Amino acid sequence: MLVISIKYLKERVFKTIDEISEEIMKIGEEIRRTPELGFKELRTSSIVKRELEKLGLYYENGLALTGVKARLKETSEKPVVAVLGELDAVPCTEHPLADRKTGAAHACGHNVQVAIMLAVGKSLLESGVINELSGNVVLMAVPAEEYVEIEYRLKLREEGKIEFLGGKQELIRLGAFDDIDLAMMVHAWPRMPERKVWINCTSNGFISKYARFIGKAAHAAAAPHEGVNALNAAALAILAIHAQRETFRDEDYVRVHGIITKGGDAVNVVPSDVRMEMYVRGKTYESIEDASSKVDRALKSGALAVGGSVEIRNIPGYLPLIQDENLSAVFKNNAIRFLGKEGIVEGGHQAWSTDMGDVSHIIPSIHPLIGGFDGDAHAKNFDIKDPEMAYIISAKIVAATIIDLLANNANTARQIIATFKPKMTKEKYLKYLRKMFK
Ligand SMILES: [Zn+2]
Ligand SMILES: [Zn+2]
Repeated sequence: MLVISIKYLKERVFKTIDEISEEIMKIGEEIRRTPELGFKELRTSSIVKRELEKLGLYYENGLALTGVKARLKETSEKPVVAVLGELDAVPCTEHPLADRKTGAAHACGHNVQVAIMLAVGKSLLESGVINELSGNVVLMAVPAEEYVEIEYRLKLREEGKIEFLGGKQELIRLGAFDDIDLAMMVHAWPRMPERKVWINCTSNGFISKYARFIGKAAHAAAAPHEGVNALNAAALAILAIHAQRETFRDEDYVRVHGIITKGGDAVNVVPSDVRMEMYVRGKTYESIEDASSKVDRALKSGALAVGGSVEIRNIPGYLPLIQDENLSAVFKNNAIRFLGKEGIVEGGHQAWSTDMGDVSHIIPSIHPLIGGFDGDAHAKNFDIKDPEMAYIISAKIVAATIIDLLANNANTARQIIATFKPKMTKEKYLKYLRKMFK
């Protein structure tokens, strides 16, 4: 009896998603052509607000500068499931759809996430199914998942506009997740045009670094002996970092990578101010801290060699992703309906990072990867190959998962919440991040 009614609720929502499928893909395309970098997603969040207004939903906006949050029901019923959509693009100047001024492009597929989030909200409301579910559903458009423009974000921090450099970190701090019991989102899986999903993998966490090498300017030809070359210090530091790599263990998945954001002021002046932005990633907190201290040592060695100095700022990056197995299982069952068992990839560890890792330390969360995309993430060839998979089938799987969670007095959601053991409380999490700023 109960099984039949859940099936019926799902069929109603799938039908609505089919009816609005053109509209959903159109919104996704509109966002794809409006790429904006993190904490600057004003036009993208306007698109979200416009769509929420069409649905007659009250929303909070300006969360962590550009975030938007709406509840599908105007009640304080529990439990609350949040569907997240990331607003930001990534710098990828070579991408054919890159913004000519900023170089931002949706080369990580976040535009699809936002469209899916809206599809889920629209279909639950327009089918009327939301009224037959317990608890509540929240749509949350979240800023700044891509951890870029570190110097710019540090300036926002100094101005008191943000404290942390990632969007979900800020939303946790601001209390936007305080009323959320379960969080879910899906993410594009590059080089995977097939109709598949990848559930329940873990991912690296990281610490970020901003390093400034300070030398002494002098005429580069007439008097280089009067100068101290900060670019040479950075070059030596990079080599010293490479010399650490043999000490990183395979099982820790350590990744150290950086860019020089300022290499000097003029060719005929000995560089006196050279700046780097870096990530140090790893599977565990210990491996990240170990690699981080080695990188600090390497940075100092470059400065020491040329007689200059270096200022290192360690900035909290993201925590490793831990997906809730029980919530993953509900998602999996719904994915099998559309993709078959052969369409499910499970487990494993990934070297990338996401601020969903931070959320997953506090509340039960999932971040399944979805197929339908071709090319490489963050690269010029990244593209949507199968729009029906990327937008429509994914939205149906997410909506069906919500129905399983919240139908029948939300028994499934309540069980998942009761079984979940948070790695950190919000208070402990904020303390951990603040300790890392040094
Ligand atoms: Zn990305
Ligand atoms: Zn991404």
